[in-house]
Amino acid sequence: MSSARQDAIAAVTNYKANGQSLNFRETPSGTLFASNVFNDKVMKDRLPKSAYRALQRTLRYSEKLDGSVADAVATAMKDWAIEKGATHYAHVFYPLTGLTAEKHDSFLSPTEDGSALAEFSGKELIQGEPDASSFPSGGIRATFEARGYTAWDPMSPAYILENPNGTTLCIPTAFCSWTGEALDKKTPVLRSMQALNKQAQRILKLFGHHQASPVTATAGPEQEYFLIDRNFYFSRPDLIATGRTLYGAKPPKGQEFEDHYFGAIPERVLACMLETERELYKLGVPVKTRHNEVAPAQYEVAPVFENANVATDHQQLIMLTLQRVAQKYGMACLLHEKPFAGINGSGKHVNWSMGCSVGNLLEPGDNPHENAQFLVFCAAVIRAVHRHSDLLRVTVAFSGNDHRLGANEAPPAIISIFLGDQLTDVFSQLEKGGATSSKQAGTLTIGVDTLPPLPKHAGDRNRTSPFAFTGNKFEFRAVGSSQSIAGPLVALNTIVAESLDYIATALEKAIGGDSTKLNAAVQKVVQDIIKEHKAIIFNGDNYTAEWHHEATKRALPNLKNTIEALPALIAPKNVALFAKYGVLSEREVHSRYDIYMERYCKDINTESQAALNIAKTMILPAAYRYQGELASTAASLKAATGGSVHMGTLETVTKLVADLEKNIASLEVAIGQHGSTDLMAEARHFEHDVIPAMNAVREVADKLEGIVADDLWPLPTYREMLFIK
Ligand code: ADP
Ligand code: MG
Repeated sequence: MSSARQDAIAAVTNYKANGQSLNFRETPSGTLFASNVFNDKVMKDRLPKSAYRALQRTLRYSEKLDGSVADAVATAMKDWAIEKGATHYAHVFYPLTGLTAEKHDSFLSPTEDGSALAEFSGKELIQGEPDASSFPSGGIRATFEARGYTAWDPMSPAYILENPNGTTLCIPTAFCSWTGEALDKKTPVLRSMQALNKQAQRILKLFGHHQASPVTATAGPEQEYFLIDRNFYFSRPDLIATGRTLYGAKPPKGQEFEDHYFGAIPERVLACMLETERELYKLGVPVKTRHNEVAPAQYEVAPVFENANVATDHQQLIMLTLQRVAQKYGMACLLHEKPFAGINGSGKHVNWSMGCSVGNLLEPGDNPHENAQFLVFCAAVIRAVHRHSDLLRVTVAFSGNDHRLGANEAPPAIISIFLGDQLTDVFSQLEKGGATSSKQAGTLTIGVDTLPPLPKHAGDRNRTSPFAFTGNKFEFRAVGSSQSIAGPLVALNTIVAESLDYIATALEKAIGGDSTKLNAAVQKVVQDIIKEHKAIIFNGDNYTAEWHHEATKRALPNLKNTIEALPALIAPKNVALFAKYGVLSEREVHSRYDIYMERYCKDINTESQAALNIAKTMILPAAYRYQGELASTAASLKAATGGSVHMGTLETVTKLVADLEKNIASLEVAIGQHGSTDLMAEARHFEHDVIPAMNAVREVADKLEGIVADDLWPLPTYREMLFIK
């Protein structure tokens, strides 16, 4: 039996909480929270009053930061960090790989007398200059112009990252080329939030809110993940190379007993969660909820929502921390969307809303006036999603998510909105022009008569919709578990900004400064929107074939996989949208398209190489060995009995070995071919030739797994990885 399997079993059976267990009695989580964050409180304590005030103006009203203020902030940050044991500072940025990148620099500068001084200037705080040549740029950065710049994002607080051997001051930054074009995920988040604020303010003014604070997009992402023993992880070359298993027969027991969801959390896993949360508390990440998920060995963690920019950075920290802490507990955290075939995959529900001093703008509230304002914002989202469902689909299109979307466990690739019965009813009455409601007493003409108070928790909890209204926010459920949430948020912010712009323009025109005309104008605009865009609303079961049929009739796009979805990114209407709201220039959009297409090819290429290698060097040899064993048993039997021997297993194995050899050869041929230099042709080649060839090898290999002697099988099995914990 492979030693990894024995080691894993020993690790689990001998698990003891390690010596330095955490003590929340001595250090309550409240004390820990944000203890490693250079937040408002720390700044207030440490900055000269004038510098603090200037920085606040920058944060609140986007005023340009003066150089002397930056120097003051840098000095305070450095002193604070050094007190916390920091030797280095790092500009942290978010390249288009979707990962987190960091470049570390020491605080020390040599002095003339041969010693060294800890220094950190405003200039170093504000701007860094990592070599950009090794990050994807999609043609924006010519290789001779390798310079890239990181620019401090004062909106996302700096923090201390601990390591047993010292700490590092981490500064969230945007990352761009020397021409100022975005090479990262953060820049468009910031730009799209600005666009959203601008348009939302116009609506708020119409409703009499002239002094509202900036409207921010808010986000609360729910992260699903798997934890398996590290011994298993390291004996699976496929997990190491690609994040998912490329082989593995279905275990005798899967998730059919529905006994895992919200089940008791195993001790080692809970210990790991507690430490993960403790680390995240220190970084000021407000993680709140934890539980078992549907699949065996699958879990979820969710924070309280925050402003979308900070939530995006925090979400990256959540993924890093989950992986880092899991190691300490002898486990590996799998963030891939589909680590195990036939078992539920992982997603990341992104809850989204808009908020400001007026409140949560998607909160229905309970008086008619608030309702009218809510209905405008809600209608804006409905219109936005209907007009740009292709764009939302693009933001969740990549190879990992292709295994999930439409696979009857995650929402289908068709984007639609779940509103719930009551809200749907309200909108359909408004559509009819404020007809008397039979469901609720009262007439539904906005603001004139009484709208029924809308419930915070709209009735049922539909789980199959990709985009659901859940009481006071929308939940985008098609996002993949390994993804940065930046892309989906950028799309949402931008498409809703466009709708708010449209509505504000219509209302401003209809009212012409006479606020008594507001209600009638709102009624008309919302009515028109519902008439035109109600096709996007669907409250039924999104998994059924009838819905797919119905969606076709409604002309809703069904972009089944990455390759079908990605071209929508560069559709003229979407390029124009991003350009109009200053979120991404045409060149930036096209560069992203190239990067994501290339990424798809690289993903499938890596998977196919790993699949081939494992088939040739692990699975086929195991099959040969077993075949040899069977053959010699047959020969001995024949010699002993003298008669003819029939051995069915030998025949089956021989047939499977022949199939495996044949399929391996076909995979090798497919890998050897190439589409062409055209990205789309290359991607299609991977989709049409390589993936089916890979699947064919897997099919035979998984059959062999069910027949080859267990002690000869070289890979930890699903049964072991999912249930030994
Ligand atoms: P459920 O999904 O079970 O209904 P919750 O209502 O607690 O759970 O919310 C789930 C997630 O939605 C949490 O991460 C939460 O922070 C987030 N959320 C709640 N309100 C908002 C909001 N206004 N904007 C963005 N996210 C929100
Ligand atoms: Mg939820």
